[in-house]
Amino acid sequence: MDQPLPPPRADAAPPPYALGLFGGRFDPVHRGHTAIAQAAADQLGLHEVRWLVTGQPVHKTASASADHRLAMTRLALEALHDPRMVLDDREVRAAQQGKESASHATVASFQAQYPGRPLVWILGEDQLASFTQWRQWQWLVQSVTLAVCRRPGAAATASEQALLAAGARLCQILLAPDTVSSTDIRQRVRDGQPLGETVSPAVARYIHDHQIYLHPPGGSP
Ligand code: ATP
Repeated sequence: MDQPLPPPRADAAPPPYALGLFGGRFDPVHRGHTAIAQAAADQLGLHEVRWLVTGQPVHKTASASADHRLAMTRLALEALHDPRMVLDDREVRAAQQGKESASHATVASFQAQYPGRPLVWILGEDQLASFTQWRQWQWLVQSVTLAVCRRPGAAATASEQALLAAGARLCQILLAPDTVSSTDIRQRVRDGQPLGETVSPAVARYIHDHQIYLHPPGGSP
C-alpha cells in the first residue's frame, strides 16, 4: 500500500483528562521509550501515562524476567522526574495469577476502573504494523484512541489501512527518529560494549549488578 496516512482526524484528539497507556516488554527500557511516552504526553496534553510492563509477552518472548523489567522501568521513570509517567504492574500481576494479560484485557480493566474516561494507547511503528494481529484488535480500536509514532509522510501500511477501515481514531505523535532498540542493547551487553546513553545510568547499573542479558535467551546461564 503506497497511500500516505491521512492527516489525523480532528475528532481523534483526546481530551487532556484522557489516560495514556504505553505498553511494552521494556527488555530493557531505553531512551526511545521515554521519548515516545513524553512526546505523546506533551503533544496530546495528557496528564498521566501508565507504563504497562508486559507479563508474559503475547507476541514475543522476553529475555529478562518480569520482575527485572519492572524494576528497570521503575528506575528509568524515577530518573525522569516526570509526574505524568506512572508505572503500572497490572499486566505482570495478571500473568503471575494466570489471568489474561493481553492488551484487550488491560483496556477492559482500565474501563472498569475508570468508567467513561477516554483511553489513549501509545505505540511505535513496529507495534502499529502488527496491530491487526493483536487479540480482539477490532474491539480495541473502538475502545481507545491510537497515538502512533511514525515517520511523517511514510506510506500507510496494510495494517494502518485496516485500522482506518475499522474506524480507528488515530493521532500522530511527532518524534525525531532514534534507532535505539532493546534488541541492540541486549546485544551490546552480550558483546561487552558500553551502553552509552541508550539507557539511564541507574538501568545500566541494574543490568550490570544483576548480570542480565549476558547470554542469549535459551542459552547456557
Ligand atoms: P525489541 O528490540 O526487544 O523488539 P523495543 O526496543 O522495540 O524492543 P518494546 O518494549 O517492544 O521495545 O517497545 C515498546 C514500545 O516502544 C512499542 O510501541 C515500540 O514501537 C516503541 N519503541 C521502541 N523503540 C522505539 C524507538 N527507538 N523510538 C520510538 N518508539 C519506540
